[in-house]
Amino acid sequence: MDSANPALPNTTESPQPQLTTQPSRYESQKRRDYNNFLNYLKTHNTPPLSLPDCSGAHVIDYLKYQDQFGKTKVHVTGCVYFGNPDPFAQCGCPMKQAWGSLDALVGRLRAAFEENGGAPESNPFGEKAVRGYLRDVRKWQAKARGVVYKKKKRVVGSSNATEAAVSLINFSNQASGCGVGEGSGGDGTFGSITYAETNDRIKGGLV
Ligand SMILES: [Zn+2]
Repeated sequence: MDSANPALPNTTESPQPQLTTQPSRYESQKRRDYNNFLNYLKTHNTPPLSLPDCSGAHVIDYLKYQDQFGKTKVHVTGCVYFGNPDPFAQCGCPMKQAWGSLDALVGRLRAAFEENGGAPESNPFGEKAVRGYLRDVRKWQAKARGVVYKKKKRVVGSSNATEAAVSLINFSNQASGCGVGEGSGGDGTFGSITYAETNDRIKGGLV
């Protein structure tokens, strides 16, 4: 994809200079995630739930619900490939959402919540329980998939190193527009952990 056209005032984060009113891919994704979540609250709860009534527990339910759409094999403890990052053959273990995807999703939803008028102190996506859940997923997936997580030095002003790293793979020319400060962590370590697999994927040219 082309980088931003220098002839145009690049005030938006749009990776498509010919469509200056078009939001960036990150912004579109964020909006889509937010709408999906609101829709989920309405359709998966009886009576329908509205955002102000939503707690971290609902967010966690939503993350679990997302697993059915996941494409990442997470081995169960009884699987011979448990802890093997590169199995020789297929196994029957379930596909789930990769921790990095869930972490990035929560980061976008957390930002969207506040951008839509939600108070930071009542942000369900920032709740301790949600961070704890993500931390458990990270730990478990690292074990089950034999993936190593490396801690990266935290960069001041980039409270969401993970999101930035993930974005670098998916749409590299947008990475600079992604560090908009919606931290997925907040506990001082979480947002600064880079998925080691990221590097492998870059090396291997896989996404
Ligand atoms: Zn398996």
